[in-house]
Amino acid sequence: MLDYEYEELAALVVSWGFKEAGAREIFTGLHRRVFQNKEQFDTTRVSPKLLDKLFEDGPPISPFRAVNAFPSADGSTKYVYTLPNGQKVESVWMPFGKYVTLCVSSQVGCALGCTFCATGAMGFKRHLSPAEMLGQVIHMRRENPFPNKKPGRYNVVFMGMGEPLHNFKGVMHVFRALTHPFGMVLSDQNVAISTSGLVPKIQELGQLEHRPRLMVSIAAPDNQARSAVMPVNRAYPLEMLLETLENFPLKKKERIMLSYVLIAGVNDQPQDAARLAAMSARFPSLVNLIPMNAHKDSPGMNEPGEDHLCAFSQLLKNHGAFTTIRRSRGRDVAGACGQLAAQV
Ligand code: SF4
Repeated sequence: MLDYEYEELAALVVSWGFKEAGAREIFTGLHRRVFQNKEQFDTTRVSPKLLDKLFEDGPPISPFRAVNAFPSADGSTKYVYTLPNGQKVESVWMPFGKYVTLCVSSQVGCALGCTFCATGAMGFKRHLSPAEMLGQVIHMRRENPFPNKKPGRYNVVFMGMGEPLHNFKGVMHVFRALTHPFGMVLSDQNVAISTSGLVPKIQELGQLEHRPRLMVSIAAPDNQARSAVMPVNRAYPLEMLLETLENFPLKKKERIMLSYVLIAGVNDQPQDAARLAAMSARFPSLVNLIPMNAHKDSPGMNEPGEDHLCAFSQLLKNHGAFTTIRRSRGRDVAGACGQLAAQV
């Protein structure tokens, strides 16, 4: 049922001979109130006949065969979803005070093969459907209701398994559902996608009036080093990517986030910081340093020490770059950045 955009659901409901208002209640029930069964819809004004029709003839609400939760000592929780064919994907719930970040997957595996990423080592299996992506968001919200029914502030980030711009059509469907006035009503700025740098899709994204925020993984400040850790760089080298980002239409005060996985001995030298800062100066941006999270498919890629991480961050600042350090959540349950790799 989550695969229907609002307009499609409305057309279906009207084609069954009911008023569009019923579709609005159903969409709000699914996306905002995270209903999961007919009994919950019975408490709404939706006609019982429409509900009978919906639950007899419509597709099931949940696209998952099973979901398992792995709470981390740091307060985050990793969820593993079993899809109908037995494949698995993962998402991570990360509370930060009154705010919650929901990190969702867009594909089973990934075709891009970044060497620092466990998902890349799986290879590409398939795109997730909109229902399978929205289902992650809805499941995490259902499992973690806010106390006193107070609404929380959510950020949804496509930083889980997969390259979201490779699944452009599906991810944009999800974006429209998340920001729909009858759904969760997130603002455009509360949704972000993280890409490895698929230049044509970044350009396509920039042409949309409503779009999520853009995060781009840089990982190395020159072509030779970047191609070694991110094979996508051979198709879309740094100068092409940076020129695209320079021309990307930004809203007032908006910045492009440049993610930089800091890998000990690979991309952590003072000259790397200088080059990275020079790149970030070419357009409004924020460098987000992510210390490498080692996993079994990343031999020889080591985590930088805390002192080194802070020193690299300070170097970036000295060169004039806006910089933050992302403290990954869920490391103890393999839910941190670069560690997601469900067995398929
Ligand atoms: S970092 Fe992102 S794009 Fe690269 S392999 Fe991992 S999931 Fe794919």
